[in-house]
Amino acid sequence: MAQFIRSLTGEEKLDILTESARYDVCLASCNGRTGGGSGRMRDPSSPLNRWIYPVAVPGGGMVHMLKVLMSNVCVNNCTYCFFGAKRNCGRRTSFRPEELAALFMGFYRAGEVNGLFLSSGIRGSSGETMEDMLRTVRLLRGRYRFDGYVHLKILPGVPEDQIREAVLLSNRISLNLEAPTGGHLEKIAPDKAFASDLLKRMDWTGQLIRRGEGRTASQTTQFVVGPSGESDLDILRTVDWVYRERYVFRSYFSAFQDPEDPLRQGGGDRDALLREHRLYQCDFLMRAYGFRFPDLVFDGSDRIPLQTDPKTAWALLHPHFYPVDINYGSEEDLLRVPGIGPLSASRIVSWRKDTPFRNGEDLKKTGCLLSRAASYIEYSGKRVNRDQPLLFDIDPPRGWEGGHSPLEEEKIGSLYEYPAQKGKTVNYLFKGKDTPPAYCR
Ligand code: SF4
Repeated sequence: MAQFIRSLTGEEKLDILTESARYDVCLASCNGRTGGGSGRMRDPSSPLNRWIYPVAVPGGGMVHMLKVLMSNVCVNNCTYCFFGAKRNCGRRTSFRPEELAALFMGFYRAGEVNGLFLSSGIRGSSGETMEDMLRTVRLLRGRYRFDGYVHLKILPGVPEDQIREAVLLSNRISLNLEAPTGGHLEKIAPDKAFASDLLKRMDWTGQLIRRGEGRTASQTTQFVVGPSGESDLDILRTVDWVYRERYVFRSYFSAFQDPEDPLRQGGGDRDALLREHRLYQCDFLMRAYGFRFPDLVFDGSDRIPLQTDPKTAWALLHPHFYPVDINYGSEEDLLRVPGIGPLSASRIVSWRKDTPFRNGEDLKKTGCLLSRAASYIEYSGKRVNRDQPLLFDIDPPRGWEGGHSPLEEEKIGSLYEYPAQKGKTVNYLFKGKDTPPAYCR
């Protein structure tokens, strides 16, 4: 007897496809674990709140975002992914563009959401799936006159005209590299070609954004950390390169999570999470603190030290650089002081014009973390607390190397301006907040 399989309602699909979307961390604030976001803050027992996330967006402010997949069907078999064709990931389903657009608008009109994050597994081909995603956004922008925030994922290998339309329609785009080189990607995503499917598309997107040919303000990318055997140096070198050469605004890092154990019932790997955290710190140093890739400290195996934050690691290797004078040091030099972030550095430079800083009590008002900074600073040539041990008297652990880079310093010079971030990063990161997040100071 033929078995009748009831088709899913829109709400049932939302339950499946929003739950599936949580494995994508590119929307950092949607994810409680990554990027400093606070995760879902509203009552999770309400069905509506299971689908909607509060998210900080570029330029400041919060958006209540519906973060959802077009489909959790996928023809590919990426080893790190819960939705690979060969995996048993539970029920698979897809939205039709009209269905998803109408559902979204229902929430929007009820005042429940004001933004959409749309990604997808690859159903059939990348081009077909991307067309469904684009049609959804086309409906929102055209039929429904929705003018709010849309973050669209670019699928690997899609044609240029789809990228052009994505840039026209969406506010933000992400294209996940997942691995730092083609060789690494081949090990974990054998169906994707690093150069042609990803870097080429990233280039098209970056050029369109750079020329202002659409409403997209920035593109981002993501790396899965661990499964391809890549080193931290491999990842950060590629991060630095895409910032300079592909007009990428920021990167996300996701510690590998065994797809067979997506809830980390085994407890998760603390070192992997710490590594992810340190990569975020290095990324912030490069984007917001004036550090260059060759400034980052690696050990003899091309790993960033896990036991020390990367800014302190640099400080320990450069004792001659300190103390930095709070009343005379340049903003760039102040940013090299552990405990001083971009906001406190800019306040110091501005406030000292009226009244020079004399002690830590004054300095604390800038948001500076005095307990970390005290060892590295002086006030108009005076160290206030002479009992304070100098942290740079401590030898760095053996094997650390500063400026470890395959690139030659002379060649890079002015290349270390990240064009997509010029004038945007600090405002985006810290707007509306008193102090930068603790993990990047
Ligand atoms: S293409 Fe995307 S959805 Fe498909 S298996 Fe790879 S990572 Fe997962």
